Amino acid sequence: MSAARSSLWGVRIDLHTHSAVSDGTDAPAELVAAAGRAGLEVVALTDHDTWDGWDEAQRAGERLGVEVWPGLELSAHELFAGEQRAVHVLGYGVDPSDRELGGLLERVRQGRRQRIPKMVAGLNRLGLELTVEEVMALAGTGVVGRPHLADAMIARGYVAHREEAFDRWLRDDGPLVVHRLTPSTEQAVAAIRAAGGAAVLAHPWGRGAARWLTPNRIEQLARDHGLAGLEADHLNHDVAQRAALRRLAERLGLLVTGSSDYHGTGKRNFPLGAHTTAPEVYAELRCRAGSHRRTVGRAAGVYGGPGRPRGTGPDDDTRLMTQGETDESDRDRRRG
Ligand SMILES: [Zn+2]
Ligand SMILES: [Zn+2]
Repeated sequence: MSAARSSLWGVRIDLHTHSAVSDGTDAPAELVAAAGRAGLEVVALTDHDTWDGWDEAQRAGERLGVEVWPGLELSAHELFAGEQRAVHVLGYGVDPSDRELGGLLERVRQGRRQRIPKMVAGLNRLGLELTVEEVMALAGTGVVGRPHLADAMIARGYVAHREEAFDRWLRDDGPLVVHRLTPSTEQAVAAIRAAGGAAVLAHPWGRGAARWLTPNRIEQLARDHGLAGLEADHLNHDVAQRAALRRLAERLGLLVTGSSDYHGTGKRNFPLGAHTTAPEVYAELRCRAGSHRRTVGRAAGVYGGPGRPRGTGPDDDTRLMTQGETDESDRDRRRG
């Protein structure tokens, strides 16, 4: 197992990829085959808010001699100037039988589904003809998201590719902001840790996110909530940002990962292995995932204090996430 061969030089590890189970375009098995062709020995499948691709990916990995580390990319948010801003938290090595994390993922996916009709209505108001059915058909049985809305816009000929759809219409601070239900960043980190996983901030400073994920905020997430690492080496970061994130990680004792954020043909110029993670870091992450199972998340008190048995009391995730709901309805009212 690769975790044991931590001193091996030249092992190529990509810890952030998406399959068609979320908004990538390769089936999980195709993605693993592509990882092998790209010369990767280890690949983590990190679809948005789901682990549904794990089995297929792991079976393909066994067949093809590529080590597949199951992960996910959990949607979360920070509040910045009174608005919700998207944050993505990579979770590695979580237990898929963890009911609390499973329930949280289900609610986040439901929020994704509920957002689509609102966004379609918004696009209609802006003069773009489009239906919810078109978007859902493109998502298939997988997790629906804005990229599928972009795909529907491409199919209609409104834009040439997903980036254009995001730049013109779908970006967080664009003309069509519709919030959805997500946990706060610390809730996301805690949920991953409570399910036995290690949490890493995905592309922390990509697309202007340095405004809300400040060094102080990252320090708080590391010190108080058990964040394990920062994905510094990501194509959305320039060289200076990557260097600054490395310095910050070193100061805070955080691990530094690198990866591609591959989406198949869904994201141009994000090839598998575009960035990689050092074998020592991978070994350490594997070590941390599983070493604190069902203890640290409780102790952090995020779900109502240490030691409270699971599955008792009110549904804390729902209660904690109503903030997003409130913001959304406030915003809808403001936007009239
Ligand atoms: Zn992301
Ligand atoms: Zn991603």
